[in-house]
Amino acid sequence: MITPQSLTALHDRLSPSDRMPLVFLGHGSPMNAIEDTAASRAWADLGRTLPRPKAILVVSAHWMTQGTTLVDVSALPRTIHDFYGFPPELYAKTYPAPGAPDLARDVVSLLASHHGAEDDSWGLDHGAWSVLAHLYPKADVPVFQVSIDMSRELAYQLEVGRSLSALRDRGVLILGSGNVVHNLRAMRMGGKPHDFALEFDTVFAETLEKRDMAALADREALGALFRLAHPSVDHYLPALTIAGAADARDSLRFMTDTIDLASVSMRSFVFHSA
Ligand code: ZN
Repeated sequence: MITPQSLTALHDRLSPSDRMPLVFLGHGSPMNAIEDTAASRAWADLGRTLPRPKAILVVSAHWMTQGTTLVDVSALPRTIHDFYGFPPELYAKTYPAPGAPDLARDVVSLLASHHGAEDDSWGLDHGAWSVLAHLYPKADVPVFQVSIDMSRELAYQLEVGRSLSALRDRGVLILGSGNVVHNLRAMRMGGKPHDFALEFDTVFAETLEKRDMAALADREALGALFRLAHPSVDHYLPALTIAGAADARDSLRFMTDTIDLASVSMRSFVFHSA
């Protein structure tokens, strides 16, 4: 719920802007951060076409909380290397963008009905910085993360998106980073995509095209196919945040709709205000 105080604080902090787009990026392997891949090229191209935001709010699959929606209020978010067994170049990579503490505190208020709370221990996990490194390579736009509450039903994350959507008119870019299909147990190097991966990826895209956001969060209706696509929902929830922040005025564009490693959809999408 948006409280009058939080909106006032937001209005004082940031001037009105043209309605900002919404971006969801399928991040896949952390190696996309430093490799020239179809995905990393597409992210760089997208960065050149997006308006320059006043700040970026990132909802990443890799910041999972239970019972709260945390907002990182640190002034200088640290780069978190939250992966194992990758080459030294990846551990040496940093993304030194400043945070946005005052705005982040306003977002805590915006998320009051979602148990929003301040946090200064997180920083930027690889779901955030691996894509930002290509999207805004100069690391000169303030950025902060918002966690995903893993203890809730899927529809809760749509509501989080709806609560955040007011930020779009204040020059804030809301960026979701996860994967539309993400089953690590079914991953295979160089293998052709699993049928379930192709099927769920298509169901997701068609449902999003119809703007049937409630159907995207209907776990029962999505059924066994959804459980195969997402044995854990962490990589799915950021896509729901972005879907929840969209409205009828937005047009939808898909990017990089391939399946990597047989079971990871790289599908990305952008909502543009018409
Ligand atoms: Zn990931």
